[in-house]
Amino acid sequence: MAHGVEYRSRNILSHKAYVPGEQPVTGGEAIKLNTNENPYPPSPEIKGAILAELQALRLYPNSPANELRECISDLHGLTAEQVIVGNGSDDILNLCTRCFSDDRLRVGMLDPSYSLYEVIASLQGSSLTCVPFADDAFSIDPDSVIRSGANLFFITSPHAPSGREYTEGCLRKILETFEGIVVIDEAYADFAGQNALGLLGEFSNLIITRTLSKSYSLAGLRVGYALSSPELISILDQARDVYNVDRLAQVAALACLKDRAYFENTRDQIIKERKRTVLTLVEWEWKTCPSGANFIFTKPVNRKGETGPAVAKDLYEFLATRGILIRYFPQHALTSSHVRISVGNREDMDMLLERLIEWKHQEKPK
Ligand code: PMP
Repeated sequence: MAHGVEYRSRNILSHKAYVPGEQPVTGGEAIKLNTNENPYPPSPEIKGAILAELQALRLYPNSPANELRECISDLHGLTAEQVIVGNGSDDILNLCTRCFSDDRLRVGMLDPSYSLYEVIASLQGSSLTCVPFADDAFSIDPDSVIRSGANLFFITSPHAPSGREYTEGCLRKILETFEGIVVIDEAYADFAGQNALGLLGEFSNLIITRTLSKSYSLAGLRVGYALSSPELISILDQARDVYNVDRLAQVAALACLKDRAYFENTRDQIIKERKRTVLTLVEWEWKTCPSGANFIFTKPVNRKGETGPAVAKDLYEFLATRGILIRYFPQHALTSSHVRISVGNREDMDMLLERLIEWKHQEKPK
């Protein structure tokens, strides 16, 4: 308060900021399996692309990132008018609330899912409708989304934090009747067996968001994009920061997108490690959601055969003290007894499994 006068906007007054996963400053020692980063470095093609661009940094970047739009539209068999690029997909998700929600137009999401949706809705001053899942396997009842009354509805597919995939049929059911805009957040879709791309031709109110943070190892560069109808893309473009994707990000993203062999190889390694780890957890009879993402959502069972929020917390703390970071989500009944583990490389997962066995057999579980 300045001189007793409230100087913060109404939206900021009631706002709760997003809390990101822990990022250790040194980054050296810990095995980071807590923020779904890629264990492999980005394509080696990135180095030459960035070095060649350095001399151009005195100039502003191409505002719409046209070359990147072309490359992304080719990749998905769309037109460049159906693509917008952002400073990470968070930038795009934020643009969606800017353009399609306000104090009259509600935002909807399934609860629990990516907590940023709530944050960007509150920043925009729009109210949020949280729709529950139909069961503890994170199934979606299309009618509950249709009846939500939201103008903008976020669906994470594959879902976070469970990794559950949704079929085209389920998503089509929603799109056929829902009257607002549906955003399908496909941050993890490159690791999944299905996606919603086939629905773009049928529904002009569909926006699909993707990121280069996970499957292209570029979390530190901040590049994401959306695919939609030219009408919706041109609306999002009006609200975009003029230079939202910097020069280095544009050339580096292009280099990584074009290196298909590297992308496929690293993605396949991650899927292979995911399969191997899930098989072990299932052998241990830890309830584990089939995952279409680069993380695994599992319900740990301790030596006494117990499960529950205290057991999940105990495992989280046990691993943290041994230099392995994972996530647990105590806030919601559907997540509180589980932990989420990002899929690392072979050595990371070997080390993880070794520590999990140690935890399973420890003498005095809390
Ligand atoms: N969507 C989901 C579901 C996510 O988990 C994340 C990563 N936290 C993002 C979007 C954002 O990704 P980025 O901004 O790095 O593209």
